Amino acid sequence: MSSLSRFWSDISNNLRLEYGDTVYNSWITPIEPLKIEDDIFYLAVKNDFLKEWISKHYLSRILHYSKNHNAQIRQVEIMINHCKREFGQPQNNDMNNLKFKESENDYNIIKSIPLDKNLTFDEFVVGKSNELAYAAAKRIAESETTVYNPLFLYSGVGLGKTHLMHSIAWSIREKYQYKKIIYLSAEKFMYQFIKALRYRNTMDFKDQFRTIDVLMIDDIQFICGKDSTQEEFFHTFNELVNNNRQVIISADKSPNDLEGMENRLKSRLGWGLVADIDKTTFELRVSILESKIARTGVEVPGDVVNYLADTIDSNVRELEGALNKVIASSNFFGQSITLDHTKNVLKDLVKSYDKKVTIEDIQQKVASYYTIKMSDLFSHKRIKQLITPRQVAMYLSKDLTTLSLPDIGKKFGGRDHTTIIYAVKKIESLLQTDKGLVEDIRNLKRIL
Ligand code: ADP
Ligand code: MG
Repeated sequence: MSSLSRFWSDISNNLRLEYGDTVYNSWITPIEPLKIEDDIFYLAVKNDFLKEWISKHYLSRILHYSKNHNAQIRQVEIMINHCKREFGQPQNNDMNNLKFKESENDYNIIKSIPLDKNLTFDEFVVGKSNELAYAAAKRIAESETTVYNPLFLYSGVGLGKTHLMHSIAWSIREKYQYKKIIYLSAEKFMYQFIKALRYRNTMDFKDQFRTIDVLMIDDIQFICGKDSTQEEFFHTFNELVNNNRQVIISADKSPNDLEGMENRLKSRLGWGLVADIDKTTFELRVSILESKIARTGVEVPGDVVNYLADTIDSNVRELEGALNKVIASSNFFGQSITLDHTKNVLKDLVKSYDKKVTIEDIQQKVASYYTIKMSDLFSHKRIKQLITPRQVAMYLSKDLTTLSLPDIGKKFGGRDHTTIIYAVKKIESLLQTDKGLVEDIRNLKRIL
């Protein structure tokens, strides 16, 4: 061994002790010692990417150990040696080089999706429906060690899951700068994993996740039914949780309701804290609108705010969209914002909300679809030809209206709410196997 190699081997051993095998294998072994000239220690790596990463993360420690072993050294310089030959990689083969480069840039570093600067705790309005999720998110963001692991956030669309996740990331970034945070959508996670598989480098893939402090995966429902991705995620997840790294997951359903998700994973996901975000209340919608309005500095009268909060009750994203539309059009027409103007601007949007389906509609359409009498839906006749349409009508009433089960029962000849639950369950289970019924429900929904 030359003295240079021995010198470098001492330094890299120090680095290995400090950072562990994973970092050592990924980032230190690709470095080649070149020479020591004057007081500069020259190292070589084979591409820009490695140079950048190593400079950013390990250069100061490399310098530190270099000085320890050779007091004369004042500086470490990393060069790019494009010719450095990879073991088993043919030289001068454009295809191979290209492939190697691409693969490296794509998966050798798991990239976090950029954070949206508007999605912070300061901009998040708290109300009854989201206070648990908010408190849990805050707690995680402020605590240096893990508190609940994992935190599992779930809700329908547009209710603030992504907003809370970004907020946690911003807050940790500010408070605990040393922490490595990765925020990914489940799709991105899957994409990166598939890429890694293609280049047969799943070991590297796992190892990279193992070095992070906080892993956030948004919309985990996208890996439902994707078995190998789930498998990979399961191992990554366990490894992180076992090492006390914080994991935060969001989904559109509770862990138990995630269909196509392996049971062991479902149960793991529910181990920490599961917090749901409920539909917004009128009061929360008003507060959210007021907070957004305050930030734009535009004058919006109270009756307009009330009107928006009253009519756009589906989710916050649409509420924001409606407000923006009203503000934009008033700017465009150079008009101040009034209730009339607002109603006019939102005509089409509001129409779709107005068109609420009633139980009477459902009963009428179901009866005519199955060519039975409406009264047969209320009757207690136990004839097979009537039972299915009756249960379909009950199922659709539960699905398409906001009425409670007892209220639905009343509208079906004064039945008990347990009958409605039974009917809903029955149809749900039939839908798993009965293609004809799936078709019927789809047609009826379209008609309604
Ligand atoms: P999800 O991820 O649950 O589908 P998002 O977090 O993307 O929903 O939220 C949709 C939009 O609504 C975003 O612009 C977000 O800033 C806004 N939003 C949701 N909840 C709140 C809230 N409580 N306060 C302020 N803005 C909110
Ligand atoms: Mg989201």
